Amino acid sequence: MPSPADISAALLALAVDQSLDGITISDALLPDMPLIYVNAGFEKMTGYRAAEVLGKNCRFLQGTASAQPAVGVLHEAIKRGEGCIVILQNYRRDGTLFWNEFNISPVRNADNLITHFIGVQKDVTARVEMLQHLRQSKKDLQAANLQLSRLAMSDGLTGISNRRHFDEQLHALLSMAQRGGTSIAVLMMDLDFFKRFNDHYGHQAGDYCLTQVAQTIAAAFQRPSECAARYGGEEFAVVALNMSAAELSHYAQLLCDKVRALNIPHQDAPTGVVSISIGGISLVPTRDTTPASLLKLADGALYEAKARGRNCVHIVS
Ligand code: GH3
Ligand code: MG
Ligand code: MG
Repeated sequence: MPSPADISAALLALAVDQSLDGITISDALLPDMPLIYVNAGFEKMTGYRAAEVLGKNCRFLQGTASAQPAVGVLHEAIKRGEGCIVILQNYRRDGTLFWNEFNISPVRNADNLITHFIGVQKDVTARVEMLQHLRQSKKDLQAANLQLSRLAMSDGLTGISNRRHFDEQLHALLSMAQRGGTSIAVLMMDLDFFKRFNDHYGHQAGDYCLTQVAQTIAAAFQRPSECAARYGGEEFAVVALNMSAAELSHYAQLLCDKVRALNIPHQDAPTGVVSISIGGISLVPTRDTTPASLLKLADGALYEAKARGRNCVHIVS
């Protein structure tokens, strides 16, 4: 088995010269560490002829991209007299970008003095671009997922939460109230004389009105412990954790006033503007309380508010 010493300098030179990787040698003892050797692999990878680059520092490959973090890592390693591997953004002679996996090692003489640095360069452009592509795909996918879950939770017309999200929140908040022994409140709301509104102003105006009312309702119940949603055609629902009947009454009355204050003309309603009726329930749930039972109580209260003349609030506890 031959030892490295048996290999002739001529064979070593041939092997280095014909390596497919780019191989460079820089003189560490001359100012600015100029290149004193580049092999054929380097010429092929970069498009530069040896004669054009010998005597120059290898940094010309960076073009204007000298601020890249990998350059700092490389400089630090050279300063410490150590080797390192970095991936550099480099440019070929024709100006095209390539990613250069640059593996540099110090070469020491018999006195342990660093006289040269040897660099092995690999064009890893395909790998880097594949990684960039994968990272971008992952980002796009995450954004699409977020968008999808937002869409799945929101009502297409008004943009506020939909019934599916409301049902989930009602379930979750009821469980919390049952575990914590706190109160839970549910409101059901319905636009007054809305069929007449559509008949008079048209369905499109009806949609616009629904959206304005929906946003007013959602803006009034924004805490994490609350959820306001479009429950059906012109019906809305709210669930709120830890809200007493007195507080619920107060907020419901404010909301009723706010909807009237939108001042959406409704010629065929006694008030002359769009209004809502609100029914609500606040209670401390028992183990037997279900989402359906809460909704039924709130619905009953809404029915009562309608019976009392509409444009009003009826809360039970
Ligand atoms: P009340 O005061 O008793 O609630 O009377 P109302 O006319 O509001 O009640 P009714 O249930 O008879 O009518 C509800 C109307 O809501 C009928 C329907 O056309 C309208 N509606 C339901 N969903 C939509 C919608 O998405 N867009 C529009 N423009 N109208 C809708
Ligand atoms: Mg209705
Ligand atoms: Mg109605």
